[in-house]
Amino acid sequence: MYVDSHCHLSFPELAGRIDEIRAAMVTARVGRALCICTTLEEFPQVHALATRYDNFWASAGVHPDSEGVREPSVAELVALAGRPRVVAIGETGLDYYRLNGRSVDDMAWQRERFRVHIRAAVATALPLVIHTRSASQDTLGILGEEGATATGGVFHCFTETEAVARAALDLGFYISFSGILTFRNAAELRDVARFVPLDRCLIETDSPYLAPAPHRGRTNNPSYVPFVAEQLAQLKQCTVHTIAEATSANFEHLFKRVAPISTGAQLHEKVD
Ligand SMILES: [Zn+2]
Ligand SMILES: [Zn+2]
Repeated sequence: MYVDSHCHLSFPELAGRIDEIRAAMVTARVGRALCICTTLEEFPQVHALATRYDNFWASAGVHPDSEGVREPSVAELVALAGRPRVVAIGETGLDYYRLNGRSVDDMAWQRERFRVHIRAAVATALPLVIHTRSASQDTLGILGEEGATATGGVFHCFTETEAVARAALDLGFYISFSGILTFRNAAELRDVARFVPLDRCLIETDSPYLAPAPHRGRTNNPSYVPFVAEQLAQLKQCTVHTIAEATSANFEHLFKRVAPISTGAQLHEKVD
């Protein structure tokens, strides 16, 4: 069984299709998914998915690209993290890709928001879901300054270099690969995936975006995560079964509140 470690099922492209998506997940043997939060305003919908379905979990956080939304405090994130079935803080991080005419200096608000998330993660001992784009040095620097090695987490939808991967691994973080790994023009990323030890790899869809080949360009959903696993298996020269097992074990190891299932029964009650 596969795990999709990062999806946005509350986004409009997918929110009305949950039954259909869940049926497709069963067919594709995708047993679990982590539903990622990008704004405080969105949290109730993300959280509702995780409380309604016992193979979905939720994160709590405000995406670096979310502008014109409510800014979280450490205390607010800590409170959300205490809700049932919340297993991670994020997604959070830095994104200097779309500056829209601003300078990196102008993005101090993003760096401050990122620090708030790390402090909440340290306070709750929950792992961080990191989004970083065109900002790897600041991302790694702030993680180090704020003591994020204590919590760990995952660099999701990884598109950075091997040097950045090595630095993230040195901080104790996992690396998650998305459908980008299957794209024809992603040869460098495939080299990075060869480098990252399998016991530190996760797989994800980041749906509704970035559908893997052969579905590239369509609306993505968690049932497509096996295509990422198949690509990773080719790179690691192992079976897709080995990838499914390893990435599932890594998911449980990182997001400790989802596992072990046998002793976590109280976490699986449908409560809200
Ligand atoms: Zn992201
Ligand atoms: Zn995302």
